[in-house]
Amino acid sequence: MKTVAILGSTGSIGKNTLKVISQLKNEFEVVALAAGSNARLLVEQINRFRPRIAAIMDERKFSSLKKAIGAQTKLFVGDEGIDRVAACGADIAVMAIGGCAAAVPTLRSLEKSKRLALANKEALVMAGDIIMRKSRARGAEIIPIDSEHSAIFQCLKDEKSPSLEKIYLTGSGGPLNKTKKDALEFVSPECALRHPRWNMGRKISIDSATLMNKGFEIIEASHLFNLAPKKIEVLIHPQALIHSLVQFVDGSMLAHLGIADMRIPIQYALTYPHRMPARLKRLDFSKIKNLFFQSPDFKKFPCLGLAVAAARQKGLAPAALCAADEECVAAFLKGEIKFTAIAGIIEDVLANLKNKLKPSLEEILQVEAWAREEVRSRI
Ligand code: NDP
Repeated sequence: MKTVAILGSTGSIGKNTLKVISQLKNEFEVVALAAGSNARLLVEQINRFRPRIAAIMDERKFSSLKKAIGAQTKLFVGDEGIDRVAACGADIAVMAIGGCAAAVPTLRSLEKSKRLALANKEALVMAGDIIMRKSRARGAEIIPIDSEHSAIFQCLKDEKSPSLEKIYLTGSGGPLNKTKKDALEFVSPECALRHPRWNMGRKISIDSATLMNKGFEIIEASHLFNLAPKKIEVLIHPQALIHSLVQFVDGSMLAHLGIADMRIPIQYALTYPHRMPARLKRLDFSKIKNLFFQSPDFKKFPCLGLAVAAARQKGLAPAALCAADEECVAAFLKGEIKFTAIAGIIEDVLANLKNKLKPSLEEILQVEAWAREEVRSRI
């Protein structure tokens, strides 16, 4: 049995991870859980999976949570609590914390676990060089959960990197793919949250609507697969059946197909290099008449271009992009800014960044705080 720690267990990926583990209960044992503030769900998870330790970020929830759980689980709180879970030494650490908050625990997990099953994308966007360096230095493997990156990882399994020419990251285009550019200004949070294919957390759903999510994925892929951003192309594929493609130097291409269900890449990240049966629907090709593809519209979705520019600039630019985006998305969800203001504010903040190549983690965290402050002052 492999031991598993899940950071972000109360979110969309975290809950799906627990579903996968419930199906494979003879293979995996949950030894640690961590959440942000959803104490009600964390209590249920603790009482069901009985981990050795658990942590909640929100200090106000600590005492009620402690009263509701059994003595088998030691409970921790705040940054220190999350750090305990990240560093618990489980065989596999599943990183499903949302947003920039995952950067430090991701590095910590790499110090202590043999495998990081990585769903969070912001950590790689902010500190990809440092994370990949740590993974190599410790011999801790990173297996992507993000569906496009899992697809590419699976296509590349038996290939050496010189044979790789290019990657196509597919994306459904999000809920606003068919909305006219002029109408984007009036898009409400409810409308932008309504993703046509995937059921995800609120932040990634808005990132999917602005296509910032695809931009993050370019940066994520460049780190995971050691590729220059110019070798990574985004392809809009509204049916979300092909999860990504790779192109080799001889012109051959491999694609990964399947239903849109995150339990598939989550399970693969846990069972790799093996595959285990999954009781999920299968694609029925006799019902698929056509496959649709289009290039992304950079004018309609400027966040994608901002991410590509930050990927090329490197250094502190991706971290500033990530933090500014998180702050803008939160403001949009609170009704403080319009949908179309997100890209404008991020662009303005990045224009004021004093970039530095090869930054330290401290410098990255400083620029994160700086970018958030810059966004707040503009709002
Ligand atoms: P959710 O918002 O659904 O869940 C986020 C999780 O992180 C929750 O458990 C939340 O706790 C926890 N959390 C938030 N802040 C903190 C913190 N400071 N410390 C500890 N825990 C915290 O997000 P998703 O599950 O959708 O996404 C998680 C990550 O995976 C994101 O980076 C996303 O981009 C990536 N991803 C998600 C996909 C999806 O299908 N959902 C697909 C591919 C990638 P609580 O709820 O208790 O507050």
